[in-house]
Amino acid sequence: MAKFKARTNKPLDRDYFKYKDRPKPKDNKKLTPCCEQDVDHDVLNVKKKADWELIEDYIEQKLFEYSDTESITPVSCKKCGRLMNYLSKIKDPKGRKGWFN
Ligand SMILES: [Zn+2]
Repeated sequence: MAKFKARTNKPLDRDYFKYKDRPKPKDNKKLTPCCEQDVDHDVLNVKKKADWELIEDYIEQKLFEYSDTESITPVSCKKCGRLMNYLSKIKDPKGRKGWFN
């Protein structure tokens, strides 16, 4: 008889039932240690000059397109410089006085 060991006081999720009778495959995806991004996923990096210029161009374009956007912050990993997302600061809509584009 196989050794029985109940997984008590642990959450039983879908993976638990999926891999109950077989070993769970190792997750081979390599993640960056600093920001846990997929290393195979090629993203813009603020530490690369060419990438930074693309980021600048993108922000400049967005500021031109959306007049209610005051500024856009490119949020990147402080360690490796991978670009995570953009945070835009929108002007207070109540601050607009009767004019729209
Ligand atoms: Zn990082």
